[in-house]
Amino acid sequence: MDFDALFNAELDTLRTEGNYRVFAELERHRGAFPRAVNHGCPEKSDVTVWCSNDYLCMGQHADVLDAMHAAIDRAGAGAGGTRNISGTHHTHVALERELADLHGKEAALLFTSGYVSNWASLSTLGARLPNAVILSDSLNHASMIEGIRHAKCARRIWKHNDVEDLRRHLAELPEGATPIVAFESVYSMDGDIAPIKEICDVADEFGAMTYIDEVHAVGMYGPRGGGVAEREGLMDRITLIEGTLGKAFGVMGGYITGSSALCDFIRSFASGFIFTTALPPAVAAGALASIRHLKASEFERRRQQRQVANLRAGLDAVGIPHLPNPSHIVPVMVKDPVKCKMISDILLDQHGIYVQPINYPTVPKGTERLRFTPGPMHSDQDIDHLVFALGELWRHCALARAVA
Ligand SMILES: *Cc1c(COP(=O)(O)O)cnc(C)c1O
Repeated sequence: MDFDALFNAELDTLRTEGNYRVFAELERHRGAFPRAVNHGCPEKSDVTVWCSNDYLCMGQHADVLDAMHAAIDRAGAGAGGTRNISGTHHTHVALERELADLHGKEAALLFTSGYVSNWASLSTLGARLPNAVILSDSLNHASMIEGIRHAKCARRIWKHNDVEDLRRHLAELPEGATPIVAFESVYSMDGDIAPIKEICDVADEFGAMTYIDEVHAVGMYGPRGGGVAEREGLMDRITLIEGTLGKAFGVMGGYITGSSALCDFIRSFASGFIFTTALPPAVAAGALASIRHLKASEFERRRQQRQVANLRAGLDAVGIPHLPNPSHIVPVMVKDPVKCKMISDILLDQHGIYVQPINYPTVPKGTERLRFTPGPMHSDQDIDHLVFALGELWRHCALARAVA
C-alpha cells in the first residue's frame, strides 16, 4: 500500500482549495519585538509581526524573562513528572493561587495549554455529571468542541451570541438535566464579545452552570486584566472561568478557576490533567510574573488599545474594509482563500510585514481574512507602513474598498 500517495492526495485537495498551511519560520528579536528575523527566505530579512497573540508583548517583558532565568537557576529545566508524581512545584501552587485571586475564585487548576484545559474540563464535566447537557455557542473554539465531543453527553448548539436561542434550548431540556452553558468572551476571529450578563441571567433562570473561555481577554480587559467578566463585574456569576497563559500573558499553559470543589473534581477525574507532565517551573514562574505585572499596570493595555484605534482609523482613511467590533482584533476581510494567501505573501516578501492568512477551516469559506493584532510596541510608523502597503495591494489586486 502506498500510504504517501494517500497522504498526498489529501494534501493536494487542500492546495487546490488554497487552504494548505505554510508556516512562517521566524525568530523574534528579544527587546525589539514586533521585529523578527524571517528564516524562510534566503537573505533572512527582518519583518514586523502583525498577527501575534502575545498581545501585550509580555513574552518580551524584563520581569517575565528575569523570573524565568531565576527559576531555571533555582529549580532546573523540567518539572520532572506529572502533578501527582513528583511534578508539583512550589511555583505551580503559587501560580494557581495568583490565578484564583485574579478571577475572584476559591481555586485554580493549571494545564499544559489552554486547549488541554478546555478539552479536559468540558469532557470531564460532560462525562461525570449526571444527566449533563452541554449547551455550546455555535462559534466556540475547536478545543471546546473536541472536549464536548469526547464527553459523549447530550449537547445542543445555540446560535452565536443569541440569548433567545439559548433560552429556547434550555426551556426544552428534560426534567432532571444538568445544563452547562459553554461560551467565550472575545471570539478570536471576528473579535466580537458575548453578552455575558444576559447569558448568565438566562443560565440562572434554568439553574445552569456557566463555563466561559476568556482566552483572548485575560490580561487584556478589566482593571487587573481579569478579562471581560472582570471589566463588567460578572466574575462571580460564572461557575468556571478558563484562560491561557500563552496569549496576553506571553508564556504558555492553560487554566481553569472556580470553586474549590469544582477544581478538585477536575483535578481528580480529568485524564488530560492527570496523565501528563506538569509545566516546567520556569514557565510557571514567567506566567506568575506576567500576571502580577498586568494586575498592577495599565500601561500595556492602554497603549495597545490606542494602537488598535490608530490602525482602524488608518484603514478607514484609505477604505480598507475591516470588521467593526468592540475588541482588539482587527480582521481585514479578503473573502477569497487564494487572494488572501497571495496578499499575505506579497506583504511578507515585498513589505516586510508578516500577517498570516486565515482560511477555512479556521473561518467559514468565503470569509477569508487577514487578522491584525496591534500591540503596545507597534509604532505609529509601523501602522503607517502597514496601511500604505495594504492600500497598494488593494489597488494591485482590484479588491473592493469600503464605502464611507
Ligand atoms: C488559542 C485558544 C485556545 C487554546 O489556548 P492555548 O493556550 O493556545 O492552547 C482556547 N480557546 C480559544 C478561544 C483560543 O483562541
